[in-house]
Amino acid sequence: MIGTGILKGMAVTARNFVGSYFEKERLITVQYPEERIPLPENYRNFPILIYDNDPQAGLRCVACKICEKECPPQCIYIIKSDDKKPDYMGKPQFYPKVFDIDISVCMSCQICVEVCPFEAIKMDKDFELSKRERFDALLLRKEELSKSNEYYHRIHPVEAATVDANLAEAAAAAEAKKKAAAAAAKPTPVTPNPTTTSAPGSTSVPGATPPESSSSSTKS
Ligand code: SF4
Ligand code: SF4
Repeated sequence: MIGTGILKGMAVTARNFVGSYFEKERLITVQYPEERIPLPENYRNFPILIYDNDPQAGLRCVACKICEKECPPQCIYIIKSDDKKPDYMGKPQFYPKVFDIDISVCMSCQICVEVCPFEAIKMDKDFELSKRERFDALLLRKEELSKSNEYYHRIHPVEAATVDANLAEAAAAAEAKKKAAAAAAKPTPVTPNPTTTSAPGSTSVPGATPPESSSSSTKS
């Protein structure tokens, strides 16, 4: 029948209009900024740099520049340090002396996150970043980009827990490898073989200290 679709649509509108007085879920308008809808786990905006405990010493980034090379619009700028500092596993690593991201150019593609081998760069959820100035204010420096692992856990709890587990596993594997290498490098004590050291006809007990040879006793 002609007009059935319109009637069905009006019925849905009427149900939601009347229902919104009784069920809060039917209210689709959110009074932003007083009210906010929680963002989903996978929501992403612009990249941030993750640090453990200390924003300087704990920065996970080792300035390998892979993200800078892979970023499609080339909005990452890194200068590698001249010296090294220990990373989360105690291994000396370079760090970024300069790490800038121009978020006026960034297209939130997350490629930098995908290619980073050190779990050092992740996507933020902060979207309230409007500025009056067009250029310099949107060029984020290392200090503004650096966020703690706790912050990362707050914005992406599931992903951050997986990353922590992977890092702990990698640290444990590296520690086990180090221990195995140290054990292999240790010289093995030589145990004398009683069958080759004892003189023919002697009554030595296996494992006992071998007796002095007859040639050494005749010399003295
Ligand atoms: S999200 Fe994409 S565009 Fe933005 S910095 Fe990362 S790689 Fe570049
Ligand atoms: S964020 Fe990751 S990929 Fe980029 S320079 Fe740092 S360690 Fe390398």
